[in-house]
Amino acid sequence: MAARLDLAALSPDTGSLWGDPDMNFEAFFATKLNDLRDEGRYRVFAELERNAGAFPSARRHRDGSISDVTVWCSNDYLGMGQHPSVIAAMHEALDRFGAGAGGTRNISGTNHYHVLLERELADLHGKESALLFTSGYVSNWASLSTLGAAIPGCVIFSDEGNHASMIEGIRHSKAERRIWKHNDVADLDRQLSEYGPERPKIVAFESVYSMDGDIAPIADILAVAEKHGAMTYLDEVHAVGMYGPRGGGIAERDGLSDRITLIEGTLGKAFGVVGGYITGSAALCDFIRSFASGFIFTTALPPHVAAGALASIRHLKSSSQERLAHAERVRAVRRKLQANGIPVLANDSHIVPVMVGDAAKCKFISDLLLDEHGIYVQPINYPTVPRKTERLRITPTPLHSDADIEHLTHALSSLWSRCALARKVA
Ligand SMILES: *Cc1c(COP(=O)(O)O)cnc(C)c1O
Repeated sequence: MAARLDLAALSPDTGSLWGDPDMNFEAFFATKLNDLRDEGRYRVFAELERNAGAFPSARRHRDGSISDVTVWCSNDYLGMGQHPSVIAAMHEALDRFGAGAGGTRNISGTNHYHVLLERELADLHGKESALLFTSGYVSNWASLSTLGAAIPGCVIFSDEGNHASMIEGIRHSKAERRIWKHNDVADLDRQLSEYGPERPKIVAFESVYSMDGDIAPIADILAVAEKHGAMTYLDEVHAVGMYGPRGGGIAERDGLSDRITLIEGTLGKAFGVVGGYITGSAALCDFIRSFASGFIFTTALPPHVAAGALASIRHLKSSSQERLAHAERVRAVRRKLQANGIPVLANDSHIVPVMVGDAAKCKFISDLLLDEHGIYVQPINYPTVPRKTERLRITPTPLHSDADIEHLTHALSSLWSRCALARKVA
């Protein structure tokens, strides 16, 4: 490995790392990675085999050995990734259509199942149309960058807690961007008021925020956006499949879907497969379909992925059993952790953030949970969350048993003592 470099000693003349005779590409990469390690935020992936039929258990590979672990940080919130009807639909489609789509949507890649899935998604959100993307990230990036770039004089008002995919899409659009305080409707109103009616405006926000699990005041945001004639762009990634009588998200639950211009979602979290989408008016979806580079110039999702997602959405549209069981498990986890003084961030969603507040301790606890207790919760450190708010983001599923919850609580409690972390009296 290349030696550590003293960046301060680099050539002041060129201002370039390459002013140092020892610097080259490999040394540069190694230096940057060392910086991450020094800060305790170098990412180490757990290598897993998820057990279909036995989720949330998985086999973990490390250094040539295999151990059993219970996964407590999956975004397959309802276990739909192993649902029999999803797996059957994928098998059938794979056998009928083969492995890949065979092209971009425009050039031979549109399968019948892409069209069925888009119809299903439009119906899920009560919209005229939907458009599929290869991931939720791409759907946000492509849609926001296309809207912001194409609409003349557009200003995008972005909640400060928005996901990286929205931030990058807005940045790429080169549209004027205003950041409003997280979930602060008065600040949004103030900032919108600075622009006259001649400026097209987009208000971009999420329903359930991933890391704190807090939920946006959607009705209030819509009222303000409507007052200023702004388009609304809502990321429901952590809510689709999860909330609302048919799994249409928080907007469906609160009866607000028809007031939102564009609803974006993923097929990779509660729906258990992979892919992303937007829904909205026929003209809006046709516009993105026709102008978004990130939609046009990439191979369509494999047909069996579309078939699996379709089966998952249809199941969760007609069954609330998973949602009810899930909500009960979330309450049970919160109750147990709180009874043991483990500091859980309060929120109204299914996400259970256990606050550690220190990057090294967060990683240490996560490592020991995995190595000594067979419990897998990935540490969440900066830049995903602000420094000093490092946490374990726990996501219960309907498939975690009472014994799993007991085991998690016991392990966390003993590590809390070992790390001399403060307990929170309920
Ligand atoms: C995960 C996530 C995305 C991206 O969705 P993928 O389908 O995983 O690419 C978008 N927005 C938010 C808020 C997310 O958490």
